[in-house]
Amino acid sequence: MSQTIVVKIGTSSLTNTETGDLALSTIARLVETLTRLRRAGHRVVMVSSGAVGVGCARLDLQERPRQIALKQAVAAVGQGRLMRVYDDLFTSLQQPIAQVLLTRSDFVQRQSYVNASNTFSELLNLGVIPVVNENDTIAVEELSVGDNDTLSALVANLIEADWLFILTDVAQLYSADPNADPNAKPIYVVEDLQELQQLQVKASDSRSGWGTGGMSTKIEAARIATGSGVRAAIADGKIPENIPRILQGEAIGTRFEPHAAPSSARKRWIAYGLVPKGKLYLDAGATKAICQLGKSLLAAGITKVDGRFMQSEAVQIHNHDGCEIARGLVNYSSWELQQIQGCRSEEVPAILGYQGADTVVHRDNLVLLP
Ligand code: GLU
Repeated sequence: MSQTIVVKIGTSSLTNTETGDLALSTIARLVETLTRLRRAGHRVVMVSSGAVGVGCARLDLQERPRQIALKQAVAAVGQGRLMRVYDDLFTSLQQPIAQVLLTRSDFVQRQSYVNASNTFSELLNLGVIPVVNENDTIAVEELSVGDNDTLSALVANLIEADWLFILTDVAQLYSADPNADPNAKPIYVVEDLQELQQLQVKASDSRSGWGTGGMSTKIEAARIATGSGVRAAIADGKIPENIPRILQGEAIGTRFEPHAAPSSARKRWIAYGLVPKGKLYLDAGATKAICQLGKSLLAAGITKVDGRFMQSEAVQIHNHDGCEIARGLVNYSSWELQQIQGCRSEEVPAILGYQGADTVVHRDNLVLLP
């Protein structure tokens, strides 16, 4: 069966950590594997880091720049080099590729989000493998995704992928630090991410100093992916040939089982495309109303409002225990909500001095999280 597959590869797998040179044999095997998957009828997207790392090597810089403008300049040098290498390798197998550079704002703005989704769809229909990276050269700190683990999960959500593979410098997660604890056990399948918190899962974090994300961004990426209905896997970046084996069900790496996807593309966007600007805390009655009865959120059930946001912006919705249970678009600003929280809907016009929406978050704009 044809599947839509996103494969993320990090700088630590793409480069030789000692010399900073490209790990050409790994890249070549990745290119062969992805091309083979394409020829088998799968739709394949690659998310590749390495612009900054390759730019540093090209410019003979000894460490990853911290200053933003320098990092952006170095990324501009490296991104071109990186694409040249990929295009040469993929072209020798007659596999066309495309460069897609995205920033956080492309996910936040509904129009750009829809455009990006349509572009991916056309590229995949054409049999192209899109090669995605963050547009580091122009991304503004507050509007950048920041790490490619998260970016790959956002892309998987955007294109409604079946699988997200995060290739990295650890083969899988362990129940404890395998270097320190002889009883540490490999984790092959994660049914529910809550299990990981209980186990205090360990996986030695990226040590190279060239990549951006550690294991926590990978787990966060798995949370976004599985919450979007995408099955995720963390696997060894040095053995890309494992991807088809994992697809066939072999127990390699760590696999994260997906939850039911939000019911529409728009709800996927609300849940994971947007950046929430604040938090609403609910009492038990409101939690039950939205979680079990599928109702809209009313002012009466809100016990606390955090953050500053405008009407129509996205917020995180927490239950009385403080756990995030939903995300949604609000019909009132944080300033208005502070005045009407806990009040019955009939009282709202008198408090605000005008008639607003009947609901604080309408159920059409409300997405429950797993
Ligand atoms: N976009 C960055 C780059 O290409 C990588 C971010 C990351 O390492 O996650 O260098």
